[in-house]
Amino acid sequence: EKMQTASAREEKILVLVRLRPLNEKEIVANEVADWECINDTTILYRNTLREGSTFPSAYTFDRVFRGDCSTRQVYEEGAQEVALSVVSGINSSIFAYGQTSSGKTYTMMGITEYTVADIFDYIHRHKERAFVLKFSAIEIYNEAIRDLLSTDSTPLRLLDDPEKGTVVEKVTEETLKNWSHLKELLSVCEAQRQIGETVLNEKSSRSHQILRLTIESSAREFIGKENSTTLSATVNFVDLAGSERASQSLSSGARLKEGCHINRSLLTLGTVIRKLSKGRHGHINYRDSKLTRLLQPALGGNARTAIICTLSPARSHVEQTRNTLLFACCAK
Ligand code: ADP
Ligand code: MG
Repeated sequence: EKMQTASAREEKILVLVRLRPLNEKEIVANEVADWECINDTTILYRNTLREGSTFPSAYTFDRVFRGDCSTRQVYEEGAQEVALSVVSGINSSIFAYGQTSSGKTYTMMGITEYTVADIFDYIHRHKERAFVLKFSAIEIYNEAIRDLLSTDSTPLRLLDDPEKGTVVEKVTEETLKNWSHLKELLSVCEAQRQIGETVLNEKSSRSHQILRLTIESSAREFIGKENSTTLSATVNFVDLAGSERASQSLSSGARLKEGCHINRSLLTLGTVIRKLSKGRHGHINYRDSKLTRLLQPALGGNARTAIICTLSPARSHVEQTRNTLLFACCAK
């Protein structure tokens, strides 16, 4: 475990790309799928109408997943190792980045559930330790933090705790009992998520959702004794606001304000990730947004990070798809 901790420090960000299939609406609208995964690491843009155009057509990542890959595959062959590093005491974060309707929530929900199932399995196989699994869920909307496990919509503050680092004040933390308890809590979150009219009239395109699992464990033989130590680590599942929010200029008033704030969180995350990808050294401006401030302990230092970039294959989405791939390239 010690050695793993040491090597995790120099770990690169794992960049995964997931292409979704065309959906029914797109098929009915005679959309064309222009993107194709030609092997496990390369995705290719193939638009015969644009033959000879100058922008790069092949992009290579740690792993790319075709439209017919299941979320289980994305988990097992991609995010699992990073997510489960939490049982060895290593903090980690899994992000879903992509435009609205590209499959972020679809992917992240599955990955969260598979991770929790694996963690419960791990706990059952390690009776020599006593585990406590805690779950919390928040939403960052307009740079305000809201508890998704509470009906109280008062914004929560971030506090600097000398021991734990940045924490969300008064956030609800549920001790996870079992699998069905997780399912219950996830449906509470879903009900609490911000529903508002947007330019694209898409639910939750403007807010970031962070589901957080903390595992605490201690060796049973030492519990209550002086030399008893508790190992604690956190894994974050981050369903980001639609990446179009980082580029799209919104019309006016409140909408503009929202747009700006989401820009700030997404852009700060982009800056942080770009710096981290060049090595976890030097000054990084975590404090420039709520999202990065909160995730700092699970991004820098002894932490592992995976980013799943989700893509629509549709020709009409090519511009956003390219933006997402450019972000993904920066994170490598
Ligand atoms: P986002 O959270 O990025 O806005 P969603 O996860 O809500 O997008 O996905 C949009 C729609 O596409 C949903 O109906 C979802 O079930 C479907 N979908 C997304 N990814 C896939 C996939 N890989 N395979 C099949 N359906 C998908
Ligand atoms: Mg979503």
